[in-house]
Amino acid sequence: MIVVKFGGTSVGDADAIRRATDVVASRARRTPVVVVSAASGTTTELIELAEQAARGQLIGALRSVEHIRERHIAMCDALLRNVPTGADTTAEIAAMCDEIASLAEALNTLGHVTPRSLDAVASFGEQMSSLLVTEAFRARGIPAEHVDAREVMVTSDHFTSAEPRPDAIAERAREIIAPLVSAGKVPVLGGYIGATSSGITTTLGRGGSDYTASLLGAALGAEDIEIWTDVDGMLTADPRVVSGARLIPQIRFDEASELASFGAKVLHPNTIAPAVRLGIPVYIYNTRNPRQSGTRITFDAPRRAVTAIAAKGDVTMVKVSAPRMLLAQGFLRGVFEIFERHRTSVDVVSTSEVSVSVTLDDASHLDELVVDLRMLGDVALERNRAIVAIVGSGIGDRADCMGRALTALGDLHIYMLSLSATGINLTLVLDGDRMQDAVTALHSEFFASASA
Ligand code: ADP
Ligand code: ASP
Ligand code: MG
Repeated sequence: MIVVKFGGTSVGDADAIRRATDVVASRARRTPVVVVSAASGTTTELIELAEQAARGQLIGALRSVEHIRERHIAMCDALLRNVPTGADTTAEIAAMCDEIASLAEALNTLGHVTPRSLDAVASFGEQMSSLLVTEAFRARGIPAEHVDAREVMVTSDHFTSAEPRPDAIAERAREIIAPLVSAGKVPVLGGYIGATSSGITTTLGRGGSDYTASLLGAALGAEDIEIWTDVDGMLTADPRVVSGARLIPQIRFDEASELASFGAKVLHPNTIAPAVRLGIPVYIYNTRNPRQSGTRITFDAPRRAVTAIAAKGDVTMVKVSAPRMLLAQGFLRGVFEIFERHRTSVDVVSTSEVSVSVTLDDASHLDELVVDLRMLGDVALERNRAIVAIVGSGIGDRADCMGRALTALGDLHIYMLSLSATGINLTLVLDGDRMQDAVTALHSEFFASASA
């Protein structure tokens, strides 16, 4: 059994869904369980319309609902015309759009949106795409069965980034999905969405469909997890930033995990952990180019000096200095307890005896954080920073790699620099508007010739 996940562009229009259907048909012998994202752009549109409605702009919000409706109904028309149950599916999707419109009206009346109601609205993208894809598969003779992901993916109630409950998920997967697979069916679920044990809809956070795929893969003991997307695999850099980025045919779990955490959006950062636990290989393939060999992520991929460069912008740096606390025990603990209390994770950390600097990519609790941190010392914020990560096993092992990286960056100002304990990730914090220059310079240093 394998888990096959299609991202937003891979189910973004009727042609894309046809290509995804071909992929699933080609894997019939391996008994696939299918996870789908919302059609590309839908989740963003849903979140924006919920916020718009709560701000009082109901007409604009309802216009977005109609746009989502037209797009999905057009896909139904193109794919389900000759299917006996096609009209029911189309009606069901139209009813979901009515429900989104009612939610928008309710948010408009309330005048504010909570994380819980945001998740309720955002979940419709995957609810609609999973129904549509199930029916499109059936239209092509694949014995697909729709499974409401909220009955399987049990999570905490931390809305908008809920934590999965792996034991409960494994139990539900055994009860609901395994019997379908044994009966020769192809279960189809929406990624990204889940529910609390009492049945309230949650989401795993943006990009979370990859995570659904790996959680399900682990729950079902899958042989492989396949992530189908819009690039040929994991590349040596984001192809939107570096036009010469190259395919990485094989990569180690730890390297892929570092890259995902530091900006390689092709994988959600949490995807690797469930796969590592059971040693399940993760493959990344291109739905538009299915014959490409893709990327294979495992424990045993060959080591390379530098494997890839990742980057993420819009990072906030927070510096806390506490001269009065010189050498005081508990200062660091105090600082990190505050981050934990505000559920804000930090990416890069550097410390001295009297200060600590950290980077955050989620600054949504910044005001409250700063109020609390000021109890420990002086707080300074630096916004619009970027993190660039150079990942590869030579970073810690080979003396020349770090020197080459720093030389390639020339006179770019580096605010923080950190080598991961595993020695495979050198992370730098730079000015946000120099991120692209830094990635391009590092990429040409390490990948301009085949010898890197
Ligand atoms: P999906 O909707 O299929 O989940 P995403 O947009 O989430 O797709 O992820 C694919 C995108 O990730 C690519 O289009 C690419 O721009 C971006 N990306 C960033 N870094 C990398 C990388 N190192 N290798 C491949 N793609 C990357
Ligand atoms: N549809 C969700 C998002 O756009 C989840 C995903 O695509 O992985 O964030
Ligand atoms: Mg994605």
